[in-house]
Amino acid sequence: MVLIVKNPATGEVVGEVKKHSEAEIMEALENGHDAFGQWSKVNAHERARLLRNWSRLIQENIGEVAEIMTRENGKPLKESVGEVHYATAYIDWFAEEALRVYGRTIPAHTESKRIIVNRQPIGLVAAITPWNFPAAMMTRKAAPALAAGCTFIVKPAEETPLTMMKLVELAQEAGIPKDVLQVVNGEGPVVGKLFTESKHVRKITFTGSTPVGKQLIKESADTVKHVTMELGGHAPVIVAEDADIDFAVEQTMLSKFRNAGQTCVCANRILVHENVVDEFSEKLAAAAGRLTVGNGLDEQTDIGPIINKKGYEKITAHVQDAIDKGAEVLVGHQYDANDEKEYYFVYPTVLKNIDERMTIMHEETFGPIAPITSFKTIEEAVEIANDTAYGLAAYFFTNDYRVGTYLHENLNFGIIGWNDGATSAAHAPFGGMKESGLGREGGTEGIEPYLETKYVSIGNL
Ligand code: NAP
Repeated sequence: MVLIVKNPATGEVVGEVKKHSEAEIMEALENGHDAFGQWSKVNAHERARLLRNWSRLIQENIGEVAEIMTRENGKPLKESVGEVHYATAYIDWFAEEALRVYGRTIPAHTESKRIIVNRQPIGLVAAITPWNFPAAMMTRKAAPALAAGCTFIVKPAEETPLTMMKLVELAQEAGIPKDVLQVVNGEGPVVGKLFTESKHVRKITFTGSTPVGKQLIKESADTVKHVTMELGGHAPVIVAEDADIDFAVEQTMLSKFRNAGQTCVCANRILVHENVVDEFSEKLAAAAGRLTVGNGLDEQTDIGPIINKKGYEKITAHVQDAIDKGAEVLVGHQYDANDEKEYYFVYPTVLKNIDERMTIMHEETFGPIAPITSFKTIEEAVEIANDTAYGLAAYFFTNDYRVGTYLHENLNFGIIGWNDGATSAAHAPFGGMKESGLGREGGTEGIEPYLETKYVSIGNL
């Protein structure tokens, strides 16, 4: 059985990968479990050295990796290059963090005792990742797992296995043993069940949609596995009356249109103070209208294709629903889709007069659509922004420190950009509140989910 990978910009076949059978996946889990004994005993400096080697090899092959990514995911080549840098930043960061997994000694309550706290790797980790960041969503899980001394097995999204397979090939070239870092291909629900039912897997780490995340949490309950969940988002952008409008537009463009709006942290609701909403909307529409839509391999492309028909249909339904309920189109609302050739392009679209009745205000759109609504008071803006089950990223623009302090203290989101539309960094904790997830990736927090705490009480001294 094979899995056919197609370029979403053209529908052309770009590769075929072997689809693993259940027996092969079970064997891989067995091998990952067996390899844990040895890998967990390798000293941290050596694990760090191997991670650094891996990062270096990816960087040496950045052109090839980025091109594979653009061919299977569709994102512009410049964004693929950016993602490879972002992906290796996680490996570099966690190579350093491997050296800082400290235990502690606690003063005992009697002279005859010693109390020691050790941190040890959790065991075999199983990961499932999405198609929108084929490299970085894997390295920000694999790097801390390997740094901690865990072994790791990952299933990429069916749309984008090639980038990850290249990364795993480079890991082996870098000296990371093959059973320590493995990739298996297959259908999400099938592989997911094998992972969650396996007694060898001690942790499930998932990035993807909230419904699948909930399913994996339920499935992990029977064997009481640790879980990290990086799930969906519905990011608000709040533009206060005093904001620097040009800067707010520039940063909103970064948040909204990267990867054609197919990111979990992308702006999904733009709330602008009523006194500046016209100026902001016109400037955003003008900037969006300047973006070039096309094949990611073309140098001038800013907006690549939508990943598949399902994604395209969701986007067009959100736009139509908003228009039917009174939204005004400032730019866009233009499509280039071909069912036969299997490509789907959506032109950057800015919609005004958005209100609460519209689906786009509540559901993740995952496309290059910028819906704008207005508010009168900052308290009202916070109320609208928090009125969602999601809690991943939120952005706001103000130069008034009182307004900014009120906003960052009252917005219920795990990531806040204050005058910043591009917040992600390997050295900062990434993750969501509410139904956007459990746990954090990156930063000093990012290695914690791969470690167990063991308390040792030594008596009779
Ligand atoms: P998805 O449908 O949840 O798929 C993600 C991964 O889960 C794929 O590998 C998929 O495999 C697998 N999968 C599907 N059903 C499964 C099941 N029942 N059990 C186990 N695995 C299963 O998500 P998507 O639409 O591809 O990705 C976009 C979503 O990811 C958005 O909601 C976005 O916000 C979220 N995301 C979150 C973050 C974050 O850090 N919070 C980052 C990026 C994306 P197949 O390919 O075989 O279906």
